Amino acid sequence: MHLFRNILFYTLLFFISFSGLHAQHINSSFLPKKDTANIYKQMFNDRTDDLMENHPADDIYNHIWTSERLNPYKIPIDSLPDTVKIDCRHFTIPVHGIVTSDFGPRRYRYHYGTDLRLNVGDTVVAAFSGRIRIVDYEARGYGHYVVIRHENGLETVYAHLSKVLVQLDQNVKSGELIALGGNTGHSTGPHLHLEVRYLGNAFNSASLINYHTGKVHNDTYLITKSKSFYYQQAVAQAKKAQTRVKYYTVRRGDNLGEIAARNGTSVKNLCRLNGIKEKKLLQLGQKLRVM
Ligand SMILES: [Zn+2]
Repeated sequence: MHLFRNILFYTLLFFISFSGLHAQHINSSFLPKKDTANIYKQMFNDRTDDLMENHPADDIYNHIWTSERLNPYKIPIDSLPDTVKIDCRHFTIPVHGIVTSDFGPRRYRYHYGTDLRLNVGDTVVAAFSGRIRIVDYEARGYGHYVVIRHENGLETVYAHLSKVLVQLDQNVKSGELIALGGNTGHSTGPHLHLEVRYLGNAFNSASLINYHTGKVHNDTYLITKSKSFYYQQAVAQAKKAQTRVKYYTVRRGDNLGEIAARNGTSVKNLCRLNGIKEKKLLQLGQKLRVM
Protein backbone atom coordinates (compact mmCIF):
# COMPACT_ATOMS: atom_id res chain seq x y z
CA MET A 1 0.00 0.00 0.00
CA HIS A 2 2.84 2.32 0.99
CA LEU A 3 4.76 1.51 -2.13
CA PHE A 4 1.72 2.12 -4.29
CA ARG A 5 1.19 5.53 -2.72
CA ASN A 6 4.83 6.42 -3.29
CA ILE A 7 4.64 5.42 -6.92
CA LEU A 8 1.50 7.49 -7.34
CA PHE A 9 3.16 10.47 -5.68
CA TYR A 10 6.26 10.38 -7.85
CA THR A 11 4.26 9.80 -11.01
CA LEU A 12 2.20 12.86 -10.21
CA LEU A 13 5.30 14.87 -9.39
CA PHE A 14 6.81 13.86 -12.69
CA PHE A 15 3.79 14.97 -14.67
CA ILE A 16 3.50 18.26 -12.85
CA SER A 17 7.13 19.16 -13.41
CA PHE A 18 7.02 17.90 -16.96
CA SER A 19 3.99 19.97 -17.87
CA GLY A 20 5.60 22.98 -16.20
CA LEU A 21 8.71 22.60 -18.30
CA HIS A 22 6.66 22.04 -21.39
CA ALA A 23 4.64 25.19 -20.85
CA GLN A 24 7.78 27.20 -20.25
CA HIS A 25 9.29 25.91 -23.43
CA ILE A 26 6.27 26.88 -25.53
CA ASN A 27 6.00 30.28 -23.89
CA SER A 28 9.59 31.29 -24.44
CA SER A 29 9.43 30.43 -28.12
CA PHE A 30 6.63 32.95 -28.64
CA LEU A 31 8.57 35.80 -27.08
CA PRO A 32 10.07 38.37 -29.41
CA LYS A 33 12.80 38.88 -26.82
CA LYS A 34 14.99 41.55 -28.33
CA ASP A 35 12.50 44.23 -29.21
CA THR A 36 10.27 44.37 -26.20
CA ALA A 37 11.94 47.09 -24.13
CA ASN A 38 10.02 49.82 -25.87
CA ILE A 39 6.68 48.15 -25.25
CA TYR A 40 7.39 47.62 -21.57
CA LYS A 41 8.35 51.23 -21.10
CA GLN A 42 5.21 52.43 -22.80
CA MET A 43 3.04 50.02 -20.89
CA PHE A 44 4.39 51.14 -17.56
CA ASN A 45 3.70 54.73 -18.48
CA ASP A 46 0.22 53.97 -19.69
CA ARG A 47 -2.51 54.80 -17.19
CA THR A 48 -5.36 52.89 -18.78
CA ASP A 49 -6.47 50.03 -16.58
CA ASP A 50 -7.26 47.81 -19.50
CA LEU A 51 -3.69 47.85 -20.72
CA MET A 52 -2.12 47.00 -17.41
CA GLU A 53 -4.64 44.30 -16.80
CA ASN A 54 -4.14 42.65 -20.12
CA HIS A 55 -0.42 43.07 -20.33
CA PRO A 56 1.63 41.88 -17.42
CA ALA A 57 4.97 43.56 -17.99
CA ASP A 58 7.01 40.35 -18.04
CA ASP A 59 5.23 39.14 -21.08
CA ILE A 60 3.45 40.38 -24.17
CA TYR A 61 1.61 37.49 -25.65
CA ASN A 62 2.01 34.64 -23.26
CA HIS A 63 -0.23 35.46 -20.42
CA ILE A 64 -2.97 36.29 -22.85
CA TRP A 65 -4.14 33.09 -24.31
CA THR A 66 -7.84 33.40 -24.89
CA SER A 67 -10.18 32.14 -27.54
CA GLU A 68 -12.65 34.88 -26.68
CA ARG A 69 -11.45 37.64 -28.97
CA LEU A 70 -9.36 38.04 -32.08
CA ASN A 71 -7.52 41.02 -30.64
CA PRO A 72 -7.56 40.77 -26.85
CA TYR A 73 -4.27 42.68 -26.63
CA LYS A 74 -5.48 46.21 -27.31
CA ILE A 75 -1.99 47.53 -27.65
CA PRO A 76 -1.93 51.00 -29.20
CA ILE A 77 0.20 51.13 -32.32
CA ASP A 78 2.33 53.86 -30.74
CA SER A 79 3.54 51.49 -28.06
CA LEU A 80 4.72 48.84 -30.48
CA PRO A 81 8.47 48.58 -31.03
CA ASP A 82 9.68 50.58 -34.03
CA THR A 83 10.80 47.45 -35.82
CA VAL A 84 10.42 43.74 -35.15
CA LYS A 85 12.23 40.97 -37.01
CA ILE A 86 10.05 37.99 -37.90
CA ASP A 87 11.56 34.65 -38.83
CA CYS A 88 9.72 33.52 -41.97
CA ARG A 89 11.94 30.63 -43.06
CA HIS A 90 9.32 27.92 -42.62
CA PHE A 91 6.38 29.26 -44.55
CA THR A 92 3.71 27.36 -46.49
CA ILE A 93 1.09 29.11 -48.58
CA PRO A 94 -2.28 28.17 -47.00
CA VAL A 95 -4.09 27.96 -50.37
CA HIS A 96 -2.84 28.09 -53.95
CA GLY A 97 -5.44 30.48 -55.26
CA ILE A 98 -5.47 33.75 -57.11
CA VAL A 99 -6.03 36.91 -55.07
CA THR A 100 -9.58 38.13 -55.55
CA SER A 101 -9.46 40.98 -53.03
CA ASP A 102 -6.53 42.82 -51.50
CA PHE A 103 -5.94 44.21 -48.06
CA GLY A 104 -7.22 47.78 -48.00
CA PRO A 105 -10.19 50.12 -47.70
CA ARG A 106 -13.62 48.94 -48.78
CA ARG A 107 -16.77 50.92 -49.11
CA TYR A 108 -18.18 50.38 -45.65
CA ARG A 109 -15.32 48.93 -43.68
CA TYR A 110 -11.65 48.17 -43.92
CA HIS A 111 -10.65 44.81 -45.39
CA TYR A 112 -8.02 43.43 -43.04
CA GLY A 113 -7.24 40.34 -45.08
CA THR A 114 -6.35 39.02 -48.50
CA ASP A 115 -8.94 36.89 -50.30
CA LEU A 116 -7.79 33.81 -52.16
CA ARG A 117 -10.10 31.97 -54.54
CA LEU A 118 -10.77 28.30 -53.88
CA ASN A 119 -13.40 25.60 -54.32
CA VAL A 120 -15.48 24.46 -51.37
CA GLY A 121 -13.65 21.53 -49.82
CA ASP A 122 -10.15 22.58 -50.92
CA THR A 123 -7.52 22.00 -48.26
CA VAL A 124 -6.26 24.91 -46.16
CA VAL A 125 -2.93 24.51 -44.38
CA ALA A 126 -1.13 26.42 -41.61
CA ALA A 127 1.17 29.20 -42.84
CA PHE A 128 3.72 28.68 -40.06
CA SER A 129 4.07 26.36 -37.09
CA GLY A 130 2.16 27.32 -33.99
CA ARG A 131 -0.81 26.65 -31.79
CA ILE A 132 -4.54 26.97 -32.47
CA ARG A 133 -5.82 29.92 -30.41
CA ILE A 134 -9.37 30.32 -31.76
CA VAL A 135 -11.86 27.99 -33.45
CA ASP A 136 -15.16 29.80 -33.83
CA TYR A 137 -18.16 30.61 -36.00
CA GLU A 138 -19.47 34.07 -36.90
CA ALA A 139 -22.64 33.95 -38.99
CA ARG A 140 -22.38 37.56 -40.20
CA GLY A 141 -18.62 37.76 -40.45
CA TYR A 142 -15.86 35.22 -40.72
CA GLY A 143 -18.15 32.17 -40.85
CA HIS A 144 -16.16 29.17 -39.59
CA TYR A 145 -12.69 30.45 -38.79
CA VAL A 146 -9.41 29.55 -37.14
CA VAL A 147 -6.71 31.71 -35.54
CA ILE A 148 -3.18 30.39 -35.09
CA ARG A 149 -0.52 31.91 -32.82
CA HIS A 150 2.80 31.22 -34.50
CA GLU A 151 6.16 30.63 -32.91
CA ASN A 152 7.61 33.54 -34.89
CA GLY A 153 5.28 36.02 -33.14
CA LEU A 154 2.70 36.42 -35.88
CA GLU A 155 -0.92 35.33 -35.78
CA THR A 156 -2.90 34.24 -38.84
CA VAL A 157 -6.66 34.13 -39.40
CA TYR A 158 -8.36 31.71 -41.83
CA ALA A 159 -12.01 32.54 -42.53
CA HIS A 160 -15.14 31.37 -44.42
CA LEU A 161 -14.14 27.72 -43.94
CA SER A 162 -16.53 24.85 -44.66
CA LYS A 163 -14.95 22.51 -42.13
CA VAL A 164 -12.41 22.98 -39.35
CA LEU A 165 -10.10 20.01 -38.79
CA VAL A 166 -8.16 21.20 -35.74
CA GLN A 167 -8.98 21.76 -32.09
CA LEU A 168 -8.33 24.58 -29.68
CA ASP A 169 -4.79 24.57 -28.21
CA GLN A 170 -3.60 22.02 -30.75
CA ASN A 171 -0.03 22.43 -32.00
CA VAL A 172 0.36 22.48 -35.77
CA LYS A 173 3.32 22.48 -38.10
CA SER A 174 3.76 24.76 -41.10
CA GLY A 175 1.92 23.15 -43.99
CA GLU A 176 -0.28 20.98 -41.77
CA LEU A 177 -3.89 20.54 -42.85
CA ILE A 178 -6.14 22.67 -40.61
CA ALA A 179 -9.43 23.08 -42.50
CA LEU A 180 -11.39 22.86 -45.73
CA GLY A 181 -12.17 26.05 -47.60
CA GLY A 182 -15.71 27.29 -48.03
CA ASN A 183 -18.22 30.06 -48.30
CA THR A 184 -19.55 30.42 -44.74
CA GLY A 185 -20.36 33.70 -42.98
CA HIS A 186 -20.40 37.00 -44.84
CA SER A 187 -19.03 35.77 -48.14
CA THR A 188 -20.26 36.04 -51.71
CA GLY A 189 -18.34 33.10 -53.13
CA PRO A 190 -15.96 30.35 -52.00
CA HIS A 191 -12.67 31.90 -50.87
CA LEU A 192 -10.17 31.98 -48.06
CA HIS A 193 -9.95 35.26 -46.18
CA LEU A 194 -6.41 35.25 -44.81
CA GLU A 195 -5.18 37.77 -42.24
CA VAL A 196 -1.73 38.22 -40.78
CA ARG A 197 -1.53 40.03 -37.46
CA TYR A 198 1.13 41.10 -35.00
CA LEU A 199 0.01 41.71 -31.43
CA GLY A 200 -3.54 41.93 -32.68
CA ASN A 201 -2.86 44.43 -35.44
CA ALA A 202 -3.44 43.31 -39.00
CA PHE A 203 -1.01 44.29 -41.72
CA ASN A 204 -0.93 43.74 -45.46
CA SER A 205 0.13 40.12 -45.94
CA ALA A 206 1.17 40.88 -49.53
CA SER A 207 4.20 42.68 -48.08
CA LEU A 208 5.25 39.35 -46.57
CA ILE A 209 3.87 36.78 -49.03
CA ASN A 210 4.36 36.75 -52.79
CA TYR A 211 0.97 35.42 -53.87
CA HIS A 212 2.20 34.71 -57.40
CA THR A 213 4.93 32.30 -56.33
CA GLY A 214 3.33 31.14 -53.09
CA LYS A 215 6.53 31.92 -51.19
CA VAL A 216 7.62 34.61 -48.77
CA HIS A 217 9.53 37.55 -50.25
CA ASN A 218 12.34 37.08 -47.73
CA ASP A 219 13.37 34.73 -44.93
CA THR A 220 13.07 37.57 -42.46
CA TYR A 221 10.26 40.05 -42.42
CA LEU A 222 10.70 43.41 -40.79
CA ILE A 223 7.58 44.80 -39.22
CA THR A 224 8.07 48.54 -39.23
CA LYS A 225 5.61 50.43 -37.11
CA SER A 226 5.35 53.43 -39.42
CA LYS A 227 5.00 51.34 -42.59
CA SER A 228 3.12 48.22 -41.53
CA PHE A 229 0.32 49.97 -39.69
CA TYR A 230 0.11 53.19 -41.70
CA TYR A 231 -3.49 52.38 -42.65
CA GLN A 232 -4.78 52.60 -39.08
CA GLN A 233 -4.67 56.39 -39.22
CA ALA A 234 -6.87 56.34 -42.32
CA VAL A 235 -9.27 53.94 -40.61
CA ALA A 236 -9.52 56.19 -37.56
CA GLN A 237 -10.20 59.22 -39.75
CA ALA A 238 -12.86 57.39 -41.74
CA LYS A 239 -14.56 56.32 -38.52
CA LYS A 240 -14.47 59.86 -37.20
CA ALA A 241 -15.95 61.21 -40.43
CA GLN A 242 -18.70 58.62 -40.22
CA THR A 243 -19.74 59.68 -36.77
CA ARG A 244 -19.36 63.42 -37.33
CA VAL A 245 -22.63 65.18 -36.65
CA LYS A 246 -23.38 68.76 -37.75
CA TYR A 247 -26.33 71.00 -36.89
CA TYR A 248 -27.74 74.09 -38.54
CA THR A 249 -29.88 76.72 -36.85
CA VAL A 250 -32.83 77.88 -38.97
CA ARG A 251 -32.82 81.61 -39.86
CA ARG A 252 -35.46 83.89 -41.30
CA GLY A 253 -36.36 83.04 -44.89
CA ASP A 254 -34.70 79.59 -44.85
CA ASN A 255 -36.25 76.62 -46.54
CA LEU A 256 -35.20 72.98 -46.66
CA GLY A 257 -33.95 73.19 -50.25
CA GLU A 258 -31.61 76.08 -49.47
CA ILE A 259 -30.34 74.54 -46.24
CA ALA A 260 -29.67 71.27 -48.02
CA ALA A 261 -27.81 72.96 -50.87
CA ARG A 262 -25.71 75.08 -48.54
CA ASN A 263 -24.67 72.05 -46.50
CA GLY A 264 -23.96 69.77 -49.41
CA THR A 265 -26.82 67.40 -48.76
CA SER A 266 -30.32 66.74 -50.12
CA VAL A 267 -33.80 67.56 -48.84
CA LYS A 268 -34.52 63.84 -48.66
CA ASN A 269 -31.45 63.32 -46.48
CA LEU A 270 -32.39 66.25 -44.21
CA CYS A 271 -35.84 64.77 -43.72
CA ARG A 272 -34.38 61.35 -42.93
CA LEU A 273 -31.83 62.78 -40.45
CA ASN A 274 -34.45 64.84 -38.61
CA GLY A 275 -37.49 62.59 -38.98
CA ILE A 276 -39.54 65.29 -40.72
CA LYS A 277 -41.63 65.53 -43.89
CA GLU A 278 -40.59 67.64 -46.90
CA LYS A 279 -43.49 70.03 -46.46
CA LYS A 280 -42.71 70.67 -42.78
CA LEU A 281 -42.75 74.34 -41.78
CA LEU A 282 -39.46 75.44 -40.24
CA GLN A 283 -39.33 77.46 -37.02
CA LEU A 284 -36.86 80.26 -36.45
CA GLY A 285 -34.00 79.07 -34.27
CA GLN A 286 -34.86 75.43 -34.83
CA LYS A 287 -31.83 73.12 -34.94
CA LEU A 288 -31.64 70.77 -37.89
CA ARG A 289 -29.13 68.00 -38.24
CA VAL A 290 -27.42 68.42 -41.60
CA MET A 291 -24.78 65.64 -41.31
ZN1 LIG B 1 -11.70 38.92 -47.14
